[in-house]
Amino acid sequence: MKRSRVVIVGGGLLGAGVANALAARSVPVTLLEAATPGSGASASTFAWANAQKKKPDAYFRLNADGLAAYHRLAEHAAGRRWFHGVGNVEIATDAASSAALDAVVADLAARGYRAERITARQAAELDPVIDPGRALDAAWFPAEGWVDTERMIADLLDQAGAAGAEIRAHCPVARFEPSGARTKVVLADGEEILADQVVCAAGAATQRLLAASSITVPLIEEGDRRSRGPGDERYLAVGGLADTAALRVPLRRILHTPDMGLRPTATGRAVLGGDGAGSRVPRSDQGVFGLGPMLIDRARKVFPAFADVPVERVRVGVRPLPADGLTVAGFTERLPGLYVLVTHSGVTLAPHLAELVAGELVDDREAPELAAFRPARFG
Ligand SMILES: Cc1cc2nc3c(=O)[nH]c(=O)nc-3n(C[C@H](O)[C@H](O)[C@H](O)COP(=O)(O)OP(=O)(O)OC[C@H]3O[C@@H](n4cnc5c(N)ncnc54)[C@H](O)[C@@H]3O)c2cc1C
Repeated sequence: MKRSRVVIVGGGLLGAGVANALAARSVPVTLLEAATPGSGASASTFAWANAQKKKPDAYFRLNADGLAAYHRLAEHAAGRRWFHGVGNVEIATDAASSAALDAVVADLAARGYRAERITARQAAELDPVIDPGRALDAAWFPAEGWVDTERMIADLLDQAGAAGAEIRAHCPVARFEPSGARTKVVLADGEEILADQVVCAAGAATQRLLAASSITVPLIEEGDRRSRGPGDERYLAVGGLADTAALRVPLRRILHTPDMGLRPTATGRAVLGGDGAGSRVPRSDQGVFGLGPMLIDRARKVFPAFADVPVERVRVGVRPLPADGLTVAGFTERLPGLYVLVTHSGVTLAPHLAELVAGELVDDREAPELAAFRPARFG
């Protein structure tokens, strides 16, 4: 049986971040990825780093600290390749959406988060894609940004590999077993690795993987549906994006309307996202491609600059969504060497969580920031 100091399961933004943080501390690490690194939710994410609509306060703080961690990273050239702190403009198109922005800005500003109300004209100065004639007013969140997750995962794993980490693709893990004070990681092909510590960062597959080892961490699963009204049933964990062709008029900021979001990409395109309410069809249904026309139509209603911009690609992902909506980070009671790390807001939180988790694993130092997010809350 092979041995490893730390085994990380999952090569998304969280697994790659922890691998890099541990390798930088000279800890021998093996990362096992079922498919290829960066092919899970981290490949189909809107990638907006923010702390909006995060409740309760401990979760808001965690996300606000996550955003601050990106700003620290962006002080260096490598971090600037990942985090694009372009700010976010949210547009109100009617009295109801304007009142909603009033409430959001008042709440966030009271918590010390950078948020302000601006006029439609000021919004158009921040991004000329905005037509002041089609916006009632707006809000401005200058500290927010978007993350180039593909590049970040590739860089993190390159750095980890250069520091001695072993990165193994196409290695699905089947289950975990106790083995004295250690944890045995059993791969689907029967290979076994004995580890001092294991980090399970398997994203949306977390609940199923842990259930095979009799550990309960409930997630909203891919097939879970809820009715939002007659004829409107949503797959809660399934979310879709549309990527446009390259833009002639560049998108400078992240933009939100009452029913969609847009953000720039590193290749001069725009990513269009929905209202976050889940998908109307399962991920395997051809109907997912209807997302492209739906989102570009929404964009054209508010932004005339998108009138002749085609959609090039639709991406559909499964959100890693813990059942109570909050991050799960901590050792399990059943296997004391097994650490679970799963969260929505994984883009916002990745660098911050990587440092906190590495500290808990290596220095045996409990992070007070994570006290409210332990897996033991699920019993
Ligand atoms: C449409 C959409 C929009 C989103 N928008 C945002 C946003 O704006 N801001 C934000 O912060 N977050 C957003 N999220 C959430 C965010 O993308 C995720 O929280 C984040 O990518 C999770 O990273 P991860 O590493 O935990 O998971 P993943 O990227 O899914 O990585 C998990 C990896 O584990 C691997 N794996 C699974 N099972 C096994 C196994 N048995 N053995 C080995 N490997 C395994 C998978 O193959 C996968 O590569 C969005 C998600 C979606 C789908």
